[in-house]
Amino acid sequence: MHVSVIGTGYVGSVTGAGLAELGNIVTFVDIDQEKLAQIRCGKAPIIEPGLEEIIRKNIAHIKTTTSIDIAVNETDVTFICVGTPSNSNGSIDLRYIKSVSEQLGQTLKNKKKYHTVIVKSSILPSTTDTIVIPLIEKKSGKRAGESFGICSNPEFLREGSAVFDFFHPERIIVGCHDEKTRRQIKKLYSSFACTKMFTDIRTAEMIKYASNAFLATKVSFANEIGNICKKLCIDSYEVFKGVGMDNRINPHFLRSGVGFGGSCFPKDVNALIRQAQDLGEKPRILSSVITTNDRQPEKMYSLLKKHVSVKGKTIGLLGLSFKPGTDDIRESRAIPLIKKLQKAGANIVAYDPVAMTNLQELIPDIRYAESPVSVLQSDAILIITEWEEFEHLDYSGKIVIDGRRVEKARNEAKVYEGVCW
Ligand code: NAD
Repeated sequence: MHVSVIGTGYVGSVTGAGLAELGNIVTFVDIDQEKLAQIRCGKAPIIEPGLEEIIRKNIAHIKTTTSIDIAVNETDVTFICVGTPSNSNGSIDLRYIKSVSEQLGQTLKNKKKYHTVIVKSSILPSTTDTIVIPLIEKKSGKRAGESFGICSNPEFLREGSAVFDFFHPERIIVGCHDEKTRRQIKKLYSSFACTKMFTDIRTAEMIKYASNAFLATKVSFANEIGNICKKLCIDSYEVFKGVGMDNRINPHFLRSGVGFGGSCFPKDVNALIRQAQDLGEKPRILSSVITTNDRQPEKMYSLLKKHVSVKGKTIGLLGLSFKPGTDDIRESRAIPLIKKLQKAGANIVAYDPVAMTNLQELIPDIRYAESPVSVLQSDAILIITEWEEFEHLDYSGKIVIDGRRVEKARNEAKVYEGVCW
């Protein structure tokens, strides 16, 4: 099939490269010329294991353009993979979705052939049928289900293993507007053996938000129990090892610590809270998930202060990405901690194997170390991301406050505090 992908970030680049690997011809569209230039050179526009290899391997079947018009006219199917960030009040910022929907409408106005639009960006339930479809219909003068097809196909990939997740999805959720779209999606995804759940558009959109909200709830629950464990000198990791043995619970997303970050959990839970409030609901559980998460970096900071007077001291940060395996620093727990440390007058030195360039753009006024070894010279060390290489450092004689449970630090440090253990 000829497929176009609008937005070549974490979701778009992996989806497009994966579809090319499956034998499709793929046209990538972005407003960011640099990302497109990287793809043209056979490079990955983001750091993600295995991505560069499949882009390079399939380069003959990959095109790039900044024009939605060109991309739509030379393809049968278009994925929308643009970002849906948060507004300052936590509500969802739909400016990229709206802009792309309008451009798609303008293009479809003159396209003779039937075209299918697949919304992969995370958008709140009811957004496709109240915003995306009306905008495309208005600009094209055509009707959904007649001249063009549309569906919601939320993405569940995990950064750090996104390419693996593309080829081994646990389930594919598709909310279809019409039967023709459903047939086309079945064909496009025919090589995947997993369960494919077909439903209506709103349900598919809600499945994405309910999934992220539930996983974020598990983490905040583990942190709340972990905070109690800390006070009682109980190891929360032992506790959740036992808890996770229950099949009804399972061991995933029960790692207590400095909290969750990333481009999805905080923004999606906040957006759902706002939508619920607009609908007259009081989503108490979801609000607590965010409050608990926001408190975890403060817990870490309090533990640091127990051992070091921060002002004028050098505090080292190990890890800046929101989790290992990615250079994504969106909502990383390093950010509130750095801000707190800066306010308190600390000298900060930070190291991350891949995320320093990204953080430097956001926070230029701290020292970025070339190796973790210079971070170890600090008066105290905060572990923010559990990169595997941090399990091989020498922590002896050090003061370590650990937000992620690095066993070597736990066994070796002179002073060691786990956030929840
Ligand atoms: P991203 O910010 O990494 O990438 C978005 C891309 O869209 C950028 O390259 C941007 O330049 C491009 N873009 C914006 N406006 C455009 C336009 N008008 N035309 C062409 N390109 C345009 O975002 P992401 O992390 O890939 O997330 C995309 C969506 O997928 C979001 O809704 C997100 O919530 C959802 N999602 C993300 C993940 C994840 O792990 N990152 C997982 C599941 C779902």
